[in-house]
Amino acid sequence: MTNTTIGPATATTVTTGRDDPRSNVELVRSLIRDVPDFPKPGIVFKDITPLLASPGGFAASIVELVRSAPDDIDVVVGMEARGFIFGAPVALALGAGFVPVRKPGKLPAEVISQSFALEYGEETLNIHADAIAPGARVLVVDDVLATGGTVSATAGLLHQLGATLVHVSVLMELGFLNGRQLLAERGHASLSAVLTVD
Ligand code: AMP
Repeated sequence: MTNTTIGPATATTVTTGRDDPRSNVELVRSLIRDVPDFPKPGIVFKDITPLLASPGGFAASIVELVRSAPDDIDVVVGMEARGFIFGAPVALALGAGFVPVRKPGKLPAEVISQSFALEYGEETLNIHADAIAPGARVLVVDDVLATGGTVSATAGLLHQLGATLVHVSVLMELGFLNGRQLLAERGHASLSAVLTVD
């Protein structure tokens, strides 16, 4: 039997063989598929499953998310469900913990909640009440920033816990939905996107 050791790695030890951020970004862009009218008419869904199925593409997306992270992050927070896929490897690469934000009825211990309006529908998010120590430096990671409601609700949860939201890193920002402006209005100006769609 062999022993396997996992990190803490750093941004420079997560490699794809591509050092040029533009080629990473173009690879990621080429692997995100538009699916019209999902989950309802008028929504163009950004489907990341081709990206996840590509070892080089998935690695490139994590490299770029890690590149955008500030120093000294204690905790990466990812939102159900696609935020888990990207947030967990970013946490490992940064040597940070990972904390899930989940939909109601999923977390087993005491939770705190925040409700908000989505691009399509309404949602409530939960986090364990003891998940993050007050003052911890938090990076929020998600796949798509649309209206900003999900990130804003997550920021509300972090505020309730007394944690410090240092930065938000998303794979794709839908610029035409003005999520960045909503977050800035609510005091969360530090946000980066690997890709922006206008
Ligand atoms: P929002 O709260 O409006 O910023 O929406 C962001 C959340 O909804 C993210 O967790 C995304 O995974 C998902 N989402 C919203 N709009 C889309 C879209 N057009 N394509 C893919 N995912 C989306």
